[in-house]
Amino acid sequence: MALVEIDDVHLTFVRDDGVRVPAVRGVSLTIEEGRTLAVIGESGSGKSTLGRLVLGLLKPDHGAIRIAGRDLSTLDRREMQRFRAHFSVVFQEPYESLNPRLRIGTIVAEPLAIHWPNLNRAARRERIDKVLREVDLDPAFAERYPHELSGGQQQRVGIARALIVEPDLVVLDEPTSSLDLSVRAQIILLLARLQESRGLSFLLITHDVASVEVWAHDIAVMRLGVIVEAGPAAEVLDFPKHDYSRKLLAARLPLRP
Ligand code: ADP
Ligand code: MG
Repeated sequence: MALVEIDDVHLTFVRDDGVRVPAVRGVSLTIEEGRTLAVIGESGSGKSTLGRLVLGLLKPDHGAIRIAGRDLSTLDRREMQRFRAHFSVVFQEPYESLNPRLRIGTIVAEPLAIHWPNLNRAARRERIDKVLREVDLDPAFAERYPHELSGGQQQRVGIARALIVEPDLVVLDEPTSSLDLSVRAQIILLLARLQESRGLSFLLITHDVASVEVWAHDIAVMRLGVIVEAGPAAEVLDFPKHDYSRKLLAARLPLRP
């Protein structure tokens, strides 16, 4: 069964000046268990909004988001909170998403307070150590502060924080866009490895088309709120049907002689 079903979802923002921004217009997509759906498109095409809809942080004006068969709009607040343990998010700017005044251990453990408030100190510590090792950071990093870490290490912390609640789905919103090329490759390999070992599903939002072909199973091309093309990665990459997809994907061709 599909883990996530996005079914004819629409969302229009109304800005303070009254201007309506139709950010997501009739999007239907599915994410299978253990697979990566990459949503690619230029800035402003509605990718992040789609991610927030899937996380239940925004409500669609029309259409439905179903996770493991449950329509998110039918959940009450308590159910929604319990449901949230099944999904996490990793953001583009690792440094901005980490509270500079907190130690890494505290940051990584933040989601535990919401989802598992009754863990004792030892169990909490054990989980922090385990998840830091999983992202290839020495558990001693727990005592450090975000500014003491490199960009790649900061993003590993962001990933550890997303994984500590043992989610089924992780929304990755431009997870490598702010990183240097060499670090980018490391983070992509790490995410691919974690997907394999944990059986995670990913919604990968990116305009870095070069990274997509490494590990996306399915690709959806988004433009101005609409999915112009979607399908298995090999098909979309090798035989893009839409002009816009061809233009986007042209950026990747030099890497693939
Ligand atoms: P992407 O992630 O593809 O760059 P976004 O989903 O962030 O695109 O934005 C899609 C469109 O919606 C853009 O035109 C953006 O300006 C607009 N938008 C996003 N969030 C809001 C908001 N909270 N209020 C009003 N407009 C928004
Ligand atoms: Mg975005």
